Amino acid sequence: MRKPIIAGNWKMHKTLGEAESFFDSVKGKLPEAGQAETVICAPAPFLASLAGRAGDATPAVGAQTMHEEEKGAFTGEVSPVMLTDLGVRYVVIGHSERREYFNETDQSVNRKVKAAFGHGLVPIICVGESLEERESGKTAEKISGQVRAALDGIGAENAAGAVIAYEPIWAIGTGKTATSEMANEACGEIRSTLADLFGQDTAEQIRIQYGGSVKPENIEELLAQPDIDGALVGGASLEPESFIALAEAAGHE
Ligand code: PGA
Repeated sequence: MRKPIIAGNWKMHKTLGEAESFFDSVKGKLPEAGQAETVICAPAPFLASLAGRAGDATPAVGAQTMHEEEKGAFTGEVSPVMLTDLGVRYVVIGHSERREYFNETDQSVNRKVKAAFGHGLVPIICVGESLEERESGKTAEKISGQVRAALDGIGAENAAGAVIAYEPIWAIGTGKTATSEMANEACGEIRSTLADLFGQDTAEQIRIQYGGSVKPENIEELLAQPDIDGALVGGASLEPESFIALAEAAGHE
């Protein structure tokens, strides 16, 4: 049984005060960690405060990206050592916005995934096709290629702890959700790629999230699909009420 995981991706939103009051508002209202995992991936300047508040409680705290090196002359970057030192436990890697606006490539994603495992961080690895790729029948090829590249050189033991987020680019922030069947089909494609890479047993352990305009109104239908184990949520993770509703749906799974 894979434990559902709901991760909020706040992107570049909120002030520190707003972030802290969100954590105060959701405190005690999320499912127990044994039922479902909940994570908030916050902007870097808030991580110290939020991870300090979260401790072992829910939600856990994640970063939205990181550099792969432990330290060095990389102005503006944040290292995995800095994240783990703060108590951050998850890191989003290869979000389509990072790939599109910040030159993230399959190769840099792979280096960062290796660094995450090397430092005990859970990588939430994002993959997904553009509208053009979907319409030209290239969805499976694109997402399985991204999964293979991201996990190149990773052993099955580490891979079992990864989270993959399937996020069709055309569904992010647009209000257009993939139908739950379309989302499940793509997540199934990812799982068969994982089985090919690591064997069926490991593939069955890896959580695969759907992301792209997930909200309380559509989460249950998505989670009911056999290959969808949670969601990576942007807009609907910003308000405590809707994040709690998403987490509760996962807790009932
Ligand atoms: P959205 O964003 O839920 O606002 O569509 C999802 C994401 O980019 O992770």
